[in-house]
Amino acid sequence: MSQAEDIESVDEDGVIESVSGPVVTATDLDARMNDVVYVGDEGLMGEVIEIEGNLTTIQVYEETSGVGPGEPVQNTGEPLSVDLGPGMMDSIYDGVQRPLDVLEDKMGTAFLDRGVDAPGIDLEKKWEFEPTVEEGDTVEPGDAVGVVEETVTIDHKVMVPPDYEGGEVTSIEHGDFTVEETVAELDSGEEIQMHQEWPVREARPAGDKETPTEPLVTGQRVQDGLFPLAKGGTAAIPGPFGSGKTVTQQQLAKWSDADIVVYIGCGERGNEMTEVIEDFPELPDPQTGNPLMARTCLIANTSNMPVAARESCIYTGITIAEYYRDMGYDVALMADSTSRWAEAMREISSRLEEMPGEEGYPAYLAAALSEFYERAGKFQLINGGEGSISVVGAVSPPGGDFSEPVTQNTLRIVKTFWALDADLAERRHFPSINWNESYSLYKDQLDPWWADNVADDWAETRQWAVDVLDEEDELQEIVQLVGKDALPEDQQLTMEVARYIREAWLQQNALHDVDTYCEPDKTYRMLGAIKTFNDEAFDALEAGVPVEEIQDVDAAPRLNRMGTAEEWGEFIDEIESDLADQLRALY
Ligand code: ADP
Repeated sequence: MSQAEDIESVDEDGVIESVSGPVVTATDLDARMNDVVYVGDEGLMGEVIEIEGNLTTIQVYEETSGVGPGEPVQNTGEPLSVDLGPGMMDSIYDGVQRPLDVLEDKMGTAFLDRGVDAPGIDLEKKWEFEPTVEEGDTVEPGDAVGVVEETVTIDHKVMVPPDYEGGEVTSIEHGDFTVEETVAELDSGEEIQMHQEWPVREARPAGDKETPTEPLVTGQRVQDGLFPLAKGGTAAIPGPFGSGKTVTQQQLAKWSDADIVVYIGCGERGNEMTEVIEDFPELPDPQTGNPLMARTCLIANTSNMPVAARESCIYTGITIAEYYRDMGYDVALMADSTSRWAEAMREISSRLEEMPGEEGYPAYLAAALSEFYERAGKFQLINGGEGSISVVGAVSPPGGDFSEPVTQNTLRIVKTFWALDADLAERRHFPSINWNESYSLYKDQLDPWWADNVADDWAETRQWAVDVLDEEDELQEIVQLVGKDALPEDQQLTMEVARYIREAWLQQNALHDVDTYCEPDKTYRMLGAIKTFNDEAFDALEAGVPVEEIQDVDAAPRLNRMGTAEEWGEFIDEIESDLADQLRALY
């Protein structure tokens, strides 16, 4: 059974031998790896990370100043766990799931007092439990026995914990209960409450991973159109300063068709995290009109919070994501940034005097990263359903240098890479996702979805756009040497078409009411209109019309207004027919 034992069940006390920042060693502690312990007279929360003979090494999740040798260490005998239950949506936690009361304590002091072990979910609050099974029904691990309206947006399924046996329901309640009260009993003797604990470093059980075949629709043309992420896929996004990282991430949180968003702010500079904590609660959910927080859980650790809490925040976040996945939801998890997480690992590793690997990172950096991303996927659930976790990890390579170990190891794992580009941002090309450096390995497996849901010739149309952009890239070098006018006319025309692909299609204004979101149909139709221009223009060129005249037709610049057009269907129909009329009239 996974319910935490109370601290009274503590085994034996150990004694602090030394304190080095977040790392404390103790002697005579009877503990296992990953046990949670309370350190010092104040009872600071920590976790056992190494045991050597009689010496136990502990990483402490709180400031250790003033804690000294000789003070006691108590073992809870339980691994670091999160408390999973209703109330997590709309919450803001630190790395060990202590709720941050942001309104009272703005960042900096938002870290709770030392030694306070606040529960992750409200134990007093009553939730209306609506049963979905009856007495006599048989339930297995992972099955729901009832449902709670967690927020206006999210129905929270109360599930038989995965480590239960399951059995026949002998009693089931209906009404208002706290998460600690029993709402169902099974003939196995097991009692079900509305919350369950789970150790964060252990993936919650699930059946097989399936090949993801549905895109996580982001509503952003460059992402959906050229570099799609699958529901259950993994993506990385580097964030050079000023490149539009914040806007890109908020767009993802707002518009992607995930049911649940878990946003882990892992040790970014203090003021950046403050922005997230202040911005998110204000954001509306455009899909429902409710606050975005109604389907979001934020985990916030700034770099001024203790380093060990930063190390754990990734695990806390992904465990929460898995819990909602187990309800059958599609969860999007964003980790910003995994570089700060890796730096936390590096700091702890160096305090442990471990043999450093590349650039001082621990030798297990690659393994830790892949274990984390491994918890993403589209899963067959233990209750027979399906759920997914898509993971988007930001990396912040120092100096934008992608050859450093965290970026390199991440790129080896993730299958979508959205390369935000500071140069594009400077030229005000937004989203500043570089189309030459970005990639998605999900394209082929998602093509059937586009064919079934959008258009049969989607894959061809996209490939045409990619080819035009590639050609432009090559021609660009010549143009820089000799100027555009020196190119043959057909290549000049290709450059013009490529310009429309970039400016009318790839660029998208997040701050415009209409353009901020582009459904897949519109993404397809917009590119189709540019292709119509291309096809009609090349026909005209072949018929002997000079390229200047082709470029001058007045329907062409209207392509740039497709994104912001309210009645886009009619608008695009009209452009396409005008383009054909006007270009054909030239010969
Ligand atoms: P970063 O977080 O990388 O420092 P921001 O996300 O705050 O950068 O973006 C900086 C500015 O760039 C924004 O204030 C906005 O004006 C502009 N910007 C970024 N992305 C977009 C976008 N998709 N559409 C329109 N403007 C954008």
